[in-house]
Amino acid sequence: MRLRNISGSREMIAASDYVIQDPQEHRGSWNEVFGNDNPIRIEIGMGKGRFLMELAKRDPRINYVGVEKYSSVLLRGIQKMEAEPVQNLYFIRMDAEEITSVFGPEEVDRIYLNFSDPWPKDRHAKRRLPSREFLRRYDEILKRDGVIEFKTDNRDLFRFALDELEPAGWRLDRMTEDLHHDEEMMRDNVMTEYEERFSSIGNPIYKYIISR
Ligand code: SAH
Repeated sequence: MRLRNISGSREMIAASDYVIQDPQEHRGSWNEVFGNDNPIRIEIGMGKGRFLMELAKRDPRINYVGVEKYSSVLLRGIQKMEAEPVQNLYFIRMDAEEITSVFGPEEVDRIYLNFSDPWPKDRHAKRRLPSREFLRRYDEILKRDGVIEFKTDNRDLFRFALDELEPAGWRLDRMTEDLHHDEEMMRDNVMTEYEERFSSIGNPIYKYIISR
């Protein structure tokens, strides 16, 4: 997601209490950031953050962290938090390539990937968030019994993501090629901004849940 570069967004992010400014400093001690030992779940590429804000409101006993690369997008999330603050959610502005420098081994309980950028050119496959290169990073930070949940409306990206599992040592627990007509997988579903947009024009939504 690219929004018009909003002037001053970096400054507003640097001044926001909802953004963790030096996330590397909390590696291995995120429980201190939240002031409790509750599980930590993260969304990588959170966009404007609506999905995480809804999850955080629904379950205050889980801690959430949203990771977003672009300041102009993250700013929208901050504005939503200012309008309706939630205690158990923080944001980080960073490229997820560096995620292992921000979370320690097995520090994360669950990872959400929602409508990740498809990077359609083969030579950019490594940048895709469900690629084997990223799965290796997630393997470091995710608890042994933790899961990754991935949703997309992009068929090619979903196929690619499925093909990456075996070489990277992951196991497919559940999947659907039409989430919105899958009663069981729809239970407790929280729509993301992209999900709302793409499902409203009739695109089926793909989803998998994986573990090792
Ligand atoms: N999850 C949201 C947004 C999807 S768009 C939703 O479902 O509505 C994908 C988002 O991922 C964009 O905001 C993009 O900036 C972010 N993103 C892409 N690559 C990233 C990376 N390497 N690190 C962090 N964020 C990334």
